[in-house]
Amino acid sequence: MNVNGSITNEWKLREQMCEIGRRVYNKGFAAANDGNISLRLDQERVLCTPTRVSKGYMKPDDLCIVDLDGKQISGKRKRSSEILLHLTIMKARDDVRSVVHCHPPHATAFAVAREPIPKCVLPEIEVFLGEVAISPYETPGGQSFADTVLPFVKDTETILLANHGTVTYGSDLEDAYFKTEIIDAYCRILILARQLGRVNYYSDQMAAELISLKPKLGIPDPRIERGLENCDLCGNSLFREGYGAPPPEPKVFVHPKIASEFPNSPIESSYTPLGRDSQGKPQPAPAASTNGRTTVAATDTEAIVQAITDQVMRAMSGAGR
Ligand SMILES: [Zn+2]
Repeated sequence: MNVNGSITNEWKLREQMCEIGRRVYNKGFAAANDGNISLRLDQERVLCTPTRVSKGYMKPDDLCIVDLDGKQISGKRKRSSEILLHLTIMKARDDVRSVVHCHPPHATAFAVAREPIPKCVLPEIEVFLGEVAISPYETPGGQSFADTVLPFVKDTETILLANHGTVTYGSDLEDAYFKTEIIDAYCRILILARQLGRVNYYSDQMAAELISLKPKLGIPDPRIERGLENCDLCGNSLFREGYGAPPPEPKVFVHPKIASEFPNSPIESSYTPLGRDSQGKPQPAPAASTNGRTTVAATDTEAIVQAITDQVMRAMSGAGR
């Protein structure tokens, strides 16, 4: 491409980055001046959003260019301090051209709660996102913050940053941005479903069927290389390692098959399904609680069992007199 051609092409990419910024802002994924976006222009140069500018109102010449170490090469505005996160991902993954970091509320709620993103709930998530990691908390802006994603960066393109937000990445601006949209929509559905009551899960076998579709769609998945047969796809995680501390444990979205591993948080296993007892009488609905959990129902059941046991014991000791 000649010089004029590459300038025209770069301008189009700048316009596209401003368009992605508008989507991030209009979707409510970044309040005020939050969030940042980057795109690899070539081996040495990365186009990125400036600091202290709303992502909804950027113009093409507001954008900056940095080298892979974060040194600013051009642009009248200062580059974002969080660019180090983007560059760390790009250096670890040659195939990544674009990175989007923002604070989408539903996904960020999971990052604040440090609730692992459950699997085997929605088929599109299995295909288009795969596994999602939660990186440990670190003060934003520096290299040690950027390095928190390193243990996970090769096995996923969607990472929740604990107590902070999300980072998603891919082959171009739209690919990187769409993963943010998908993870936030998924987290929203999960929160809504939880409020309705029980979350149902499909099986490992159904998960394997979905994951095996991915090569045909050109979407890699590290779980394929590890083998899908006899694999615990719904209950296990690629990301058990890499935290340097115990990994985040599910507290709200506990797959029934692993509920016994988490005796203090088995919400699904304590759920009492609506139905009829052996005499055909309707079972009472699980008691509602303010936090949407059904553990109250289990506590009530225990209290009733204890009361009946006490009555029986009293009656027996009375009969023995
Ligand atoms: Zn941030």
